Amino acid sequence: MAQSELAQNIWLQALDYIQANEKISKTSFDNWFSQTKAISLNQDEIIIETYDTFVSDWLKNKFSEIIQEALVHVLGAPIHMRFIAKEKEVPVQKPIETPTNTPTVKKTMKTIVPLEQPRERSIAEKTMKADQHQFLQPTLLTESDFESNLNYHYTFENFVVGGGNRLAYNIALAVSEDPGSRYNPLFIYGGSGLGKTHLMQAIGNQIHIQGDDKRILYVTCEDFVNDFINNLSKNNMTKFRNKYRDIDILLVDDIQFLAKKEAMQEEFFHTFNHLYQNGKQLVITCDTQPSEISKLTDRLRTRFEWGIMVDITVPDLETRMAILQRKLNADNMLEDVPRNVIEYIASQFDSNIRELEGGLSRVVAYSTMFGKNDITLELAIEALKGFSKSQQAVISIYKIQKVVASYFNIQVDDLKSKKRKQPLVKYRHIAVYLCKLLTDSSLQKIGKEFGGRDHTTVMHSVQTIEAELKTEADTQRMIQEIQELL
Ligand code: ADP
Ligand code: MG
Repeated sequence: MAQSELAQNIWLQALDYIQANEKISKTSFDNWFSQTKAISLNQDEIIIETYDTFVSDWLKNKFSEIIQEALVHVLGAPIHMRFIAKEKEVPVQKPIETPTNTPTVKKTMKTIVPLEQPRERSIAEKTMKADQHQFLQPTLLTESDFESNLNYHYTFENFVVGGGNRLAYNIALAVSEDPGSRYNPLFIYGGSGLGKTHLMQAIGNQIHIQGDDKRILYVTCEDFVNDFINNLSKNNMTKFRNKYRDIDILLVDDIQFLAKKEAMQEEFFHTFNHLYQNGKQLVITCDTQPSEISKLTDRLRTRFEWGIMVDITVPDLETRMAILQRKLNADNMLEDVPRNVIEYIASQFDSNIRELEGGLSRVVAYSTMFGKNDITLELAIEALKGFSKSQQAVISIYKIQKVVASYFNIQVDDLKSKKRKQPLVKYRHIAVYLCKLLTDSSLQKIGKEFGGRDHTTVMHSVQTIEAELKTEADTQRMIQEIQELL
């Protein structure tokens, strides 16, 4: 992976984190962050490029704390940040097919708008999540000024099919082949990061590629709600209704956002009816089944259940590995990452594909940042410390060790050592006992973190303290005080 690509990779993860920060409103994020880009990253510094000096000054003065926090989250350590503005290029001769302020490219002009060119953002870009920014290119291209908001990156071809998503994939494919007929509405539900948005957009992209001139609209439910409120306040409801009703395929992402919003449910109900009665295809995603959406009116719930409901569950290990392989293929760096490393990463992230892909980027970034040429299993373990699930257990064992050591005024290394003098042995028993009590870690894992002791030794420590707790007030008091510190 090239340096700049790596920098951008890290930056996209940081942007994701920033976007989730409650202190940053959506508008603020769109205004200040969405057109930024990292152009370089080394051990000492990251350089963020914006399209205007005003924006870079603003980021530096107003947001540096939040940005630093995000970078620490991604990189695991603080880093110096530099913000620079890209010099505006004055084109000598205006290229005919690269419009700078008409983001929607007409169907007949499949032109690639260069990423670097400063230009007004399309709605599609504004609604994209940060992790999709790397794919900013012309959005799906439809007739005249109609914008579908689709991200062309999400296709059926790059969706890895396996246990957990096979049925959803097949049904989605069937819908794209014959929209508005058998499976209408299609309701896809499942946990975060499992590919719902990807599949939903793949339907839109596929229908578009088939070229039947269908009007396709992708919208997050949140944007639908915001659009409604905006238009309501401007007395523009006719415009709003036309926008959502004069289409052939409506893709509404994350419908759980309608929970408890009765006026919005009412509006969506009418939109739904209008499209449905006219044989238009609706695809809806949600993080739960309709029956579990809080305060959803019955009539809307039953409509969601009219067509077909399909869930996506966590893909199995092999599928997760295949997803990583595909990502590596796309980045042309397959040979650099050995299979055991891929397996390790896949085993560490078993509930969210977004995090799984983030784990891989982290490992690759780590090796580049620290100048390690080979990506080995040891390096992957090191890079993912504190990020993946089993490493989180290590963190809490480590925390217990630290608190116990400072309580007794000794070093963590003493706890892990082979020294067999009292009272150190007793302190070690206490630390081990607390790890067993307070973490989900196995005896083997605890033993490993205590200088490689075996599970019978760990069991012995636990039993010793359990016995003492029944009779010795002193031990009871110590355990209680340490727990309070923890
Ligand atoms: P959700 O909408 O369910 O939260 P997304 O569709 O946003 O999840 O998926 C999160 C990320 O994981 C996206 O980058 C997506 O491309 C990727 N992803 C999820 N499932 C798969 C899959 N089966 N094959 C390839 N990529 C996947
Ligand atoms: Mg989604």
